Amino acid sequence: MASVSNEEINEIRASADIVSIIGSYIPLTQKGKNYVGVCPFHDDHSPSMSVSPDKQIYKCFACGASGNVFTFVSEYENVSFIEAVRIVASKCGKELSVSTYNNNISPILKEEYEIMDLTQKFFLNNLRTKFGIEALDYLKNRGLNEDIIKEFGIGLSLDSNEALYQLLTKKNYDTKLLLDMGLINSNNGKIYDMFSRRITFPLWDKNGNIVGFSARVYRNEKNISKYMNSKESRLFKKGETLYNYHKAKDVAKREKKIIVVEGFMDAIRISSIGIKNVIALQGTAMTMDQIQLLKKLRVKVILCLDNDNAGLIATVNNGDELVKNEVETEVIRLSGAKDPDEYILANGGESFKENVEHPLTYFEFKMNYLKQNKDLNKVEDLSDYVNDVLKSLTEIEDPILRELTLNKLSKEYNLSLSVLKTKLEQFAPIKIKKEKIENKKEKEHKDAFMIGSEKILYFMMNGEEYIREYQKKLGLFNDSLYREIANEIVYFYETNKKITVADFITYVNDKDHIKEKVREIVSDSANDEVTIAAMDEYIDALSRMLIKNEIKRLKSLMKSELDEAKKLEIALQIKELKKEDV
Ligand SMILES: [Zn+2]
Repeated sequence: MASVSNEEINEIRASADIVSIIGSYIPLTQKGKNYVGVCPFHDDHSPSMSVSPDKQIYKCFACGASGNVFTFVSEYENVSFIEAVRIVASKCGKELSVSTYNNNISPILKEEYEIMDLTQKFFLNNLRTKFGIEALDYLKNRGLNEDIIKEFGIGLSLDSNEALYQLLTKKNYDTKLLLDMGLINSNNGKIYDMFSRRITFPLWDKNGNIVGFSARVYRNEKNISKYMNSKESRLFKKGETLYNYHKAKDVAKREKKIIVVEGFMDAIRISSIGIKNVIALQGTAMTMDQIQLLKKLRVKVILCLDNDNAGLIATVNNGDELVKNEVETEVIRLSGAKDPDEYILANGGESFKENVEHPLTYFEFKMNYLKQNKDLNKVEDLSDYVNDVLKSLTEIEDPILRELTLNKLSKEYNLSLSVLKTKLEQFAPIKIKKEKIENKKEKEHKDAFMIGSEKILYFMMNGEEYIREYQKKLGLFNDSLYREIANEIVYFYETNKKITVADFITYVNDKDHIKEKVREIVSDSANDEVTIAAMDEYIDALSRMLIKNEIKRLKSLMKSELDEAKKLEIALQIKELKKEDV
């Protein structure tokens, strides 16, 4: 992935005025020291978006959208962050000097990415030499045209067993490193290329960096496996990647849906008929990391897995997990072909597109699935079926869907609605209600902490004096997420010798686990007056809460303590704490 240094990005940001850039997309009018406009990120009817020329950030009071000039352009134009930097730079009459990788990564990772890129260039080139003629023919016979071959970086590993190894050692790369990366292998002290005599397909991480390869045979060779994949390594973590994610995600956001298939050939085939919002699992089961990647897109997920029993079971398991994680899920079950690749080759692209236009909701699919192997004319089977459906219904958040399903069951099988409702309650033994109350309690309890902590973090993003104040008076957050954000703020300041909210937003952009929280904090506090006195109020309040909690903890500890001497010790601790709490 092409990237530029944070220093350069910050320079571009400093020279771009957020009011004129956002103003070039939506009309803004001045109101006090800020500007307001109709928010483009939700269905806004009154101007809810406020743009601050002082802080060079924006926020929407209605939907909570917030960020700096780059995040606005990135989200408005549906382009990657770095693309947004490029757009903003060109609007300011500047050009980006593109270096290959982000400066924040370690030298060893940088070297590994370089090696992967070099390997990819080698494979690409091989396909275009006379050694590639046969492979190229094979690809074209399989209906993959020049555009698709290029789009997916399809290449070739040569017949030689050590062509790549020789190339990389000539560049002085360490053999041990190449072994770790899975590009070469050793057998009885003899080193050979991991991939040879195969057509190669690069595998990317979620940011579009090449992290490994999948390779398939293209000649009639017996006794070797058809596909070969890179082993897991520092770069390649199978459970954290989704094939084609980096390219599919922007289209998915535009189309508000993404198609999930099993194999990368399915994804390539679907892409070849013009559907670009498709990703492949490279297997059947989804990991939590993969679900989170999909969830982050906030689009509908359409599962289109293989037409075999494993694919069916995987559709149920993955679908259940997605629904539990509140991802809207739909299902396509193709018939008459093993997988989407074969289906399209046999029936054509239009027929596949027709399927995409008419998926089943996940629940419709699940109800059909639960009917399998049951004879609903038999009372026992019918009873099992109705119970299974009711159990599945407890996972459904939408009360309307629950109501409609109950009505349908009632009519279809002539069951009383009230019996079904009672039964549903039994399966979700007030669980739903109780969970909600507990969550709420938890939230209320946390709120004061959260508000205090988040305000303090916001102040810290505003300059050295606020960071010093935090270090002097608080020094540490109990919560690990807040602690991490505080550490990042301090680190950012120490490296750059200055900090602004807008530049810190740029800095966290590639730190997925804190990015959302930072933007939420900025959104909640963007219009606060930033003074040391105001910050101190939050620090005092937070400190008092911490002391109260500690006293509470000690008191309950004292209750369960049997040793009188230790009891006294705790009592003294409490007394000391109470002195502080004034
Ligand atoms: Zn909004």
